[in-house]
Parts: sequence; structure tokens; C-alpha cells
Amino acid sequence: MTKRDYYEVLGVDKSASAEEIKKAYRKLAIKYHPDKNPNDTKAEEKFKEAAEAYEVLSNPEKKQRYDQFGHQGVGGAGGFGGGGMNMEDIFSQFGDIFGGGGGFGSFFGGGGGGSRRTKKGTNLRVKLKLNLQEIANGVEKKIKVKRNVVADGVTFKTCSTCQGTGQIKKVMNTMLGQMVSATTCTVCGGSGQIVDKRPAGADARGLIAKEEVIPINIPGGVAEGMQLSMSGKGNEIPGGIAGDLLIVIEEIEESTFQREGNNVIYDLYISFVDAALGASVEVPTIDGKVKIKVEPGTQSGKMLRLKGKGIKDINGYSRGDQLIMVNVWTPTQLNKEEKDALEGMRGSENFKPDPGRSEKTFFDKMKEFF
Ligand SMILES: [Zn+2]
Repeated sequence: MTKRDYYEVLGVDKSASAEEIKKAYRKLAIKYHPDKNPNDTKAEEKFKEAAEAYEVLSNPEKKQRYDQFGHQGVGGAGGFGGGGMNMEDIFSQFGDIFGGGGGFGSFFGGGGGGSRRTKKGTNLRVKLKLNLQEIANGVEKKIKVKRNVVADGVTFKTCSTCQGTGQIKKVMNTMLGQMVSATTCTVCGGSGQIVDKRPAGADARGLIAKEEVIPINIPGGVAEGMQLSMSGKGNEIPGGIAGDLLIVIEEIEESTFQREGNNVIYDLYISFVDAALGASVEVPTIDGKVKIKVEPGTQSGKMLRLKGKGIKDINGYSRGDQLIMVNVWTPTQLNKEEKDALEGMRGSENFKPDPGRSEKTFFDKMKEFF
């Protein structure tokens, strides 16, 4: 399944301003709104697609991640966020799109009014540190969060200020005729409900902070700064839907390996003797040690590849490689015997460097490997 580029979805340019993005989305939202296109699944798809694109591009932080990492950067990984926007999320977006608490309904001449708007609790954001092995293979983690939940035993009653509609409507007489404007009820915050019985510990909204341990499957191949989202695991809100839990990935610095996309690079140091005579040496990989063969006459700077020993691709089943950069270690101290032995070889033709013959330059090698 390939996802369309968010800019393409909204029909704007990458350099579009926030205002232009908003305008473009507003146009699409009106065009494809389900009220205008009843039972048209294609329109609904377009509507959702536009909402998702707007959700990302209207948020400076998400937009930046999207610009940098594409869909992966904003939770495009299987099972998380991304396409997971439901209609409720979308309608809750409209508050800021169509100005104030007016709601979307008024756009189409009343009807549903603002009743489709659902309040959403705030998102929670946690950082999650992962080592390279966890990133390479994916891992199940348990995340401890403190989230606001509706307290046990709390009861609600209908808000008398707005009669449970969550909105205060005002009729104004203008030159163009009567206009109805609606604003969010400030007494109940738009939920239409206020707390009746409040148990000990609960706040004025009937919420209580609760510690919870939430298991999450992290897919292999995530990277620093990526954000996974678990919908409904954020803060609850009375009369609305819970916010999301956002998990921001941090990579733990690794001294053994360097990550390069889905490949990992390992610096191997071998002795001058092993390089000349060949040897079998042990190297660490993400999944434990393996033995590799160093051919006789191996030059410093040679790259070896362990296929499939890298990091899982976040979008598929393929896996990166481990690249081994061979470094020949020149001894820094020698005893008399060693000095004599080497001195005896100084004049030998075989010891004269002859790099032109078969060795590629470092840059050619890099090109070949990446
Ligand atoms: Zn109210």
C-alpha cells in the first residue's frame, strides 16, 4: 500500500504557508464532507486522506518530521497512527479550521449542528530509549504512563447552561438576514455534562491521575525522532474520546556499531600478520558473535559484508547488512627479535606497496556499498 504525498493530497507546494495549507484543506473538507456526499465511500476516503494530511502538515513539529522522514516519520509504521484517524478525530479538528466553536454543521445550514464534534483528551508524550539490537529486531516494551482517567464513581449531570448541547447559540440580525453563531459552552467545556458526584481525589472535571503500564510492540527499523502513536491511550475526557499516547524514539548511543540507514558498520582491527597470512577472526553482530575469514593479502580499508545482519526495514521484511571495515593495525612497539625479523624483510619486493593493481579507492568503495 503506497501512501500519497501529503502535499500532493492537499494540492499545495512544499513551501506553502500555514495559511495556504489551511485554505487548501478547508476546500477539500467542504468538497468531500460526508454530509454532502452521502454513501460515497470514495469521497469519504478522500475526506479522510485530506484530514490526515492536514493533521500532519498543520503541526509544525510533525510537518518537520514528515519533510525529513516522509510517512515513516509521522507514524506511518504498520499498526500505529498514520491512517488511524477516525471520523471523530477528523471532526474534532474542525474547531480550528472553521473558526472558533462554530462547528462544521453551520456550514451546511444547521442540520446536525455541532453535535458531531467530539471532544478529545490531550495527548501524552513519552520518550523511549532503545538500543541497536531492539531497533534492529523490533521489541515489545512496557511503558509506564500517568494518565487522566474518569474517576471510579464519578457521576455527571446535564449542563444546565447549554442544556447538554455543549454549545451556546446566538442569533444575530445582520444585513444578510439572521445568522446563527455557536460557541463552546464555557461551563462544561463543550461536553454538555458537568460533574455531579465527585469522588475523593478527582478534579473538577471528574478526572483522576492514574499510573498505567501499557505494552507496545515497537517494529524493527525505527529511528531517532520517529513518533509512534497509540490512539486512545492518552488522557481521557468526560463525554469525549481519550487522547493519544505518543512515543518518541530515542536511540541509545552505541560504541560497537555505527548505524547507516538499515546497515550497521563495524570497524574491525586485525594485525599486520593476520592481514598478510589470512586468519579466521571473531566479530560481534547485533545478534551475537560470528567467525569470518580474512583472506591472505587483505588490505586495510577493505569492506566485508555480512548479508542480512543489519536492521529490519520498517516497511517490509527485508533487512540491512553489517558492513565490516577492515583496519590493519600497525604495531607501535616491537622487541629486538621482532625488529630484526621485520628489518630483514624491508628490502623485499613483496613488501613494496602497489595500490594501483587491484585496490579501489575509498570513495569508489563507499559508492559501491551505499
Ligand atoms: Zn454546558
